[in-house]
Amino acid sequence: MIFKDKNLICKTSTRPQNMSLSYGATRDTLSNRKSFLADCGIDYRSLVCAQQLHSDNVRYATETDCGRGALTYESAIADTDALITNKKNIPLAVFTADCLSLFLYDPKTSSIGLVHAGWRGSLKGVTAKAIVKMKERFRCKPSDLYIGLGPCIRSCCYQVGGEFAGLFPDDLFLRKRRYYLDLVSINRKQLLGLGVKEANISDYRICTSCSNKKYFSFRKEGNSAGRMISVIMLK
Ligand SMILES: [Zn+2]
Repeated sequence: MIFKDKNLICKTSTRPQNMSLSYGATRDTLSNRKSFLADCGIDYRSLVCAQQLHSDNVRYATETDCGRGALTYESAIADTDALITNKKNIPLAVFTADCLSLFLYDPKTSSIGLVHAGWRGSLKGVTAKAIVKMKERFRCKPSDLYIGLGPCIRSCCYQVGGEFAGLFPDDLFLRKRRYYLDLVSINRKQLLGLGVKEANISDYRICTSCSNKKYFSFRKEGNSAGRMISVIMLK
């Protein structure tokens, strides 16, 4: 658990349980979700999931969204990669294998968010947009926000092509004539740029590719890779 707050559930799963209904071996996905979420005190049927298409769209989730994407991928919220809410007992979920999941929590306004950020969403500023939405809708101050950075592929392993140099000139590293992207740095800059305090950012510091025994990695495993679930809920 990345935040220790009695009013909050906040967790990311590990291997071998695949939590995705659309990637990897999905036969046991629902029972995997059921047991992992039951341990968190969450009914898997009430999960709120987005279709995660590397967009920068943010959705305010309410009671009517509970169950979307819980039993089928198709029922998940379309064209959305970030979820926010200020309501209790609404479990927000994202699924990742290398992409970054970001947990957002404002104890002052009692509001939360969850972001799925790969390079495409990061380029579009999905994390910044989620925080702007929290400001608009819940009157959050970024300086009050606590941020958790989930496991993702890190700059040690995230090799990309030279075409990324034009997209992320400040977050690309050249090592032995190869380019590596720092997904965490891109998102940290979005957070700090909006006024989030450095001291309020907690990082698992886990690379899914280096720690592939414990975490799914699309880069390492290809299309057979399952997905971890990251979940956040106000109690
Ligand atoms: Zn690594």
